[in-house]
Amino acid sequence: MKPKIIVSACLLGENCKYNGGNNKNEEVLRLGKYFEMIPVCPECFGGLPIPREPAEIRNGEVFQKNGNNLTAAFRYGAEQTLYIAEEKNCVAAVLKENSPSCGYGRIYDGSFSKKLKDGNGITAELLSSRGIAVFGESRVNKLIELYS
Ligand code: SF4
Repeated sequence: MKPKIIVSACLLGENCKYNGGNNKNEEVLRLGKYFEMIPVCPECFGGLPIPREPAEIRNGEVFQKNGNNLTAAFRYGAEQTLYIAEEKNCVAAVLKENSPSCGYGRIYDGSFSKKLKDGNGITAELLSSRGIAVFGESRVNKLIELYS
């Protein structure tokens, strides 16, 4: 039986990105050879529509450009994602880099100018605090090395 991982649905080609598109990534799709992949989209789980205005993290909270505070929705989506990861006994998560939900290590800096800062998205932070290893799409080779 293959080990299970949760994967950002947009990396698998689901059109759940804020602009209605996706971040389909062939390297991530190839992980299906080694792992059972369970797609998740924390922002959709949080009840946010597609498309939606982009959001970024500022001082630990999530805002859209117009000032809407989406922190509660992002946290709810993160909790749903954690529930699935634990329920399915996932060994790791592959999450979209730089996103305010899924980014791990580096995220957009809250200025809506495409600049990055150190930090984790709301879901990546919750998963990692609960012991689930998070890998961005540029680190899938490391994931294969460690868990397959
Ligand atoms: Fe992709 Fe995560 Fe954003 Fe959903 S919340 S569109 S899975 S980066």
